[in-house]
Amino acid sequence: MLVFKFGGASVKDAQGVINLGKVVGNYTGEQLLVVVSAMGKTTNALEKLTRAYVDGSDDMHAIFDEIKNYHYQILHELFGDHHPVFDEVANTFVEIDWMIEDEPHDDFDFIYDQIVSIGELVSTRIVSAWFNHQNLTSKWIDVRGYIHTDNTYREGIVDWDKTRASIQKDIPALLGNGIVVTQGFLGGTSENFTTTLGREGSDYTASIFAACLGAESVTTWKDVPGILNADPKLFPDTIKFDELSYQEAIEMTYYGASVIHPKTIKPLQNANIPLLVKPFTHPDAPGTVIKQNAINKFDKPVIIVKNNQVLLSVSATDYSFVSESHLSEIFAAFAKHNVKVNMMQTSALSFTACIDFSPERFERLLKSLKETFKVKYNSDLKLITLRHYTDSALQEIIGDETALMKQTSRNTAQVVVK
Ligand code: ASP
Ligand code: MG
Repeated sequence: MLVFKFGGASVKDAQGVINLGKVVGNYTGEQLLVVVSAMGKTTNALEKLTRAYVDGSDDMHAIFDEIKNYHYQILHELFGDHHPVFDEVANTFVEIDWMIEDEPHDDFDFIYDQIVSIGELVSTRIVSAWFNHQNLTSKWIDVRGYIHTDNTYREGIVDWDKTRASIQKDIPALLGNGIVVTQGFLGGTSENFTTTLGREGSDYTASIFAACLGAESVTTWKDVPGILNADPKLFPDTIKFDELSYQEAIEMTYYGASVIHPKTIKPLQNANIPLLVKPFTHPDAPGTVIKQNAINKFDKPVIIVKNNQVLLSVSATDYSFVSESHLSEIFAAFAKHNVKVNMMQTSALSFTACIDFSPERFERLLKSLKETFKVKYNSDLKLITLRHYTDSALQEIIGDETALMKQTSRNTAQVVVK
């Protein structure tokens, strides 16, 4: 069997959904499980809605209406005025209407997952209905009953034993009856609350299903020809890799290459399942294959740019040296507030870390560090990582920007710039 994953860009409008039907239509002889993300920029819009709700801001209903209208427009273009999927979609939106009628009481991350998950619940309803409309028999399943996580909201940790058991119990039989369509990015807790697996987590969903079902391969269909050495929106002369090893792919995603979610590769590597990254506009093109014993060929360095970074400096209030026990306390705070360190350095008097800026987590982290330490920070920075760099490539990247922190090892160079 095959697992396909379609990201938001592939289903950003009616034309995208139609194209998705065509891509999938080429595989009618195969058992197929299709994982779909939220349409276009819906997840960002739902994040905005969550913030508007939590902040009690006036534009909350306007934001939500825009999200609804966007989906209804696509539905109209696909199905005309009447189709049972209209009710399915409306019923999904209504859950949010009920929720946002009340004042927000719960933890932000919890609210976030309950609201943001709507994007995938709706997109998969539409895609599944479209498949059936095209005589591609499909079955919509609610992933929250299959991917079981703990209650780390916005970063659900998968309970593999439970997940494997659920998937293996039901899915093989369903695959025999048509295309199984399900949501990327989501999981469910034992108390039946919704979790998300981290932004761009749909790749990980595909990988979980593939690993549990012993798939032949996973294909993630993208708006790029495959894995490129850099983001083509930022750099003009990119090259595509024909193949990459699991190891290299893991390194790339670790440093923030957004083409694949970081947690995707490991389950596939363990089960020796290749991951294909292919363009949904040219389904026959070879794309990039990530697999065992791949030939890594780096004619150009891999460039990974992470925006919205904060450089945080922590020092002892009495100006004493940064000791191991300070460091362990600092790291405990990072771990507790779920803040990942992208790059770090210690000097005699301070510890400096480059982290992703996420307002709620950052506030919590600051508060807890400030109980014991002096903290300074610089925000709105960029972290650039070069894999397989050359000194000249590094110099060219930095240009005349000020490097606030820089680190090089044999294969990897990293620099934080303004
Ligand atoms: N829709 C989610 C996001 O945009 C998950 C995904 O696209 O993989 O983060
Ligand atoms: Mg998405």
